[in-house]
Amino acid sequence: MEESKQCLNFYVKQTSLKKGNKYTKYVLEWTKIMKPLILDSAIGTELENRGIHLPSFKTSIWSAHCLIHNPEAIRQIHIDNIEAGADVITTSNYQATPELLKREPSSPTYDDLAKRALELCKEAIIKTGTQTKIAGCYPPIHVTFRPDLTSKESELIEFYETLGQTYENEVDVIICETMSSIYEGTIAASIAKHYTDTVWLSWTTRGNKLNRLPSTELLDLAISEGLKLDIDCQLVNCVHADTASLAIEKLKEEKSFGIYANSSIYKKNDIESFVSDSDDWHYHNHQPITPIEYKDFAVEWIHRGASVIGGCCRTTTDHIKEIKKVVDLL
Ligand SMILES: [Zn+2]
Repeated sequence: MEESKQCLNFYVKQTSLKKGNKYTKYVLEWTKIMKPLILDSAIGTELENRGIHLPSFKTSIWSAHCLIHNPEAIRQIHIDNIEAGADVITTSNYQATPELLKREPSSPTYDDLAKRALELCKEAIIKTGTQTKIAGCYPPIHVTFRPDLTSKESELIEFYETLGQTYENEVDVIICETMSSIYEGTIAASIAKHYTDTVWLSWTTRGNKLNRLPSTELLDLAISEGLKLDIDCQLVNCVHADTASLAIEKLKEEKSFGIYANSSIYKKNDIESFVSDSDDWHYHNHQPITPIEYKDFAVEWIHRGASVIGGCCRTTTDHIKEIKKVVDLL
């Protein structure tokens, strides 16, 4: 209850930035702030916007299906993100994991798909003639937001080591994305350190508690555990834009921090009491926001010291363009 109130108050504060002098104050203070790196937008949302149907991530191989059957579409999304202003593009093998690929036994292996995803990033960079950086994706091994389904430690280590061997000397950063438990997040980031100098560890609090991972562990505790790993950056992703802001005070304890949120804000829905699944709860308690409204949150995150800003679910290249406009003013 207390958390909900915080979110509501924050949103009122945020919208007020547009109306009065506070907005000008933010603009004036931008000059003192380092330019953040811009991360790309959501791949699934972009695929759907281009008419490519994606079945539920809970029951299918989701974007990995497109990686297998329509890699040109993914390459074009990378190109469009780079042209929109992304400094970093992430490999598209998020759903290509040994556990999830069991759903389509005829699929290539996850390491083969990681190599394909890496090649698509490289091709997009060559095509655009840019120096865009590549983030190699370390996804959860099983269904996102379901840490209860994760694998035993030896299997997680083998998975992340195999991906690491593909990424070594080929990517600029390894990004552990949408980590839903301290167990999985710390194993992923620890293994990533063996294969790259730059490790980013991103937690999600998507669920029915705004300050907890889907594992029910406190986000603050997860960040504290991440601090022990001596990595470069901790982030939050796949959370509402306003609830992402709630994580900043703790994230600031890391050397650098970042946010790539969903294009939505928290909005309590009456059907809450009828929903038990934490991901459904998240979905039913949201209000979509526009790229320009998302940009207003990005302004606030940058102002508070974020070094990496991008987009997760429902964000598009239009969101990246809006963030780029902000960053260009710094
Ligand atoms: Zn997301």
